[in-house]
Amino acid sequence: MPGSDPIGAYCTFCRESASGASEIAPEQIVLRGRYFYVLVPLGQLIPGFLIIAPYSCDSGQGGARCLAELPDEAIAELGELKETVRAFFEHALGATAPIFYEQGRAGGGAQTDATGRFSHHAHLCCLPQPVAIDGWLEGRFTSTRLDGLGELAGKLRQFGAQPYVYLESTVRNGTEVRRRLFTGSDPAQRSELETLRLKDPISHLLGLPERANWRDWPARDDVAAVIATFEEHLAGRRAVAPGGGR
Ligand SMILES: [Zn+2]
Repeated sequence: MPGSDPIGAYCTFCRESASGASEIAPEQIVLRGRYFYVLVPLGQLIPGFLIIAPYSCDSGQGGARCLAELPDEAIAELGELKETVRAFFEHALGATAPIFYEQGRAGGGAQTDATGRFSHHAHLCCLPQPVAIDGWLEGRFTSTRLDGLGELAGKLRQFGAQPYVYLESTVRNGTEVRRRLFTGSDPAQRSELETLRLKDPISHLLGLPERANWRDWPARDDVAAVIATFEEHLAGRRAVAPGGGR
């Protein structure tokens, strides 16, 4: 409910249930860094769907609304965790063309929405399979090439803080990573970006529209299977790492 803490009260990542327990079960967090954790979310749009999220939240505690508001050292860790996820996709799932995306709410507005439909907690979505969302976004918004996540904050300052989509896709059979920032060039586009829920077009492009909302499609069996596969993958990596097994 909106109130003195209008965002934190209904953040999907931070909110606690009536019983006092977090809505995210501890076992869903499969890896922890200093700034970020890797989560196996409910609503496995494609089995293997992961989210990398910071611990901090825009809940009146001074956290970030989006990745573009995080400090460089946090973004550096995000890059490392993203490569860990990429390796998991490739070695454990045989998926070599993943996509990574974030819906950044740097412009404000929708993150004060009281319905809970929009997320107010920065997070990078990681899908093991390619989805032709590039063309869908290109047809609607202004596209800018980025060399890396580190350029995100600077580019957004240049354009003026506004809602955006960051998309990293893997093309040419896994040999080339393409990173793009989608922004709005007029108020109508910015407004559309602000209210966009990218899981809607992605689930339609996949032919799986019933999976658009995790509340309708929690896919708990898939969540349990992905947690087990991720842990097995990490255990295997530790066993072959230098000094591993000692
Ligand atoms: Zn939160």
